[in-house]
Amino acid sequence: MSNRNKRIAPLLITIDGPAGAGKTTVSRTLATRLGFLYVDTGALYRAVAFEAVSRGVDTENDDELDRLASGLDLKFVHADEGGRLLSCGKDISDAIRTPRIAMLASAVSARPSVRRALLDVQKRMGAEKAAVFEGRDMGTVVFPDADVKFFLTAELAARARRRFDEYGDAKDQRFEDVLEDMRRRDENDSTRALAPLRAAPDAIIIDSTDMNPEAVVDAMAAHVYSKHG
Ligand code: C5P
Repeated sequence: MSNRNKRIAPLLITIDGPAGAGKTTVSRTLATRLGFLYVDTGALYRAVAFEAVSRGVDTENDDELDRLASGLDLKFVHADEGGRLLSCGKDISDAIRTPRIAMLASAVSARPSVRRALLDVQKRMGAEKAAVFEGRDMGTVVFPDADVKFFLTAELAARARRRFDEYGDAKDQRFEDVLEDMRRRDENDSTRALAPLRAAPDAIIIDSTDMNPEAVVDAMAAHVYSKHG
């Protein structure tokens, strides 16, 4: 029998993993299926990077970065086209989706002041449960007591190919550049001292290299319902 849309208790579900593993599509679809809120925490790090560029903040200066990150008013709102991120009331959802902002987000995300400021924001967002949180350290640092934890990964070449295809006709990057950017981001994210990208010991690891998003969501939903249905 299909579990689609079956009612379930409010749970906190975390999905961590490297860039391009399919976390966003899968997290959003799983959240919709369960009737839960979807929170893209990478967007928060991108917002800090974007605001630093817009306001001319020196990202090498910890005091400036601290002031910026702790003073930001970040909110997700629902709109017809899906979740939108507002920074101090301004919709920055599209502006943060550039390769430059992705790379700068990876750099600022290694800074303690930024992680500290966003930790509080994320914990507040998760207080009500009934949510799927997507990120790098959801199951390890932000929500170590989450009800269900997934770690979604895939081979580097498959992840780079997906990201390259997402850029569609508007792409101004070669496949080799996308691959290299992704490799560097993986390295930054996994080797930083604070909250490095890694699977929580109690996370269920899914390798999506040869799976489509629908199959990944089916596997995740089956697991959620078998434990909490
Ligand atoms: O998921 P996304 O690619 O949008 O994330 C952008 C960057 O933000 C990542 O490369 C990572 O460095 C950082 N990030 C993080 N912790 C999270 C989510 C994202 O450090 N929970």
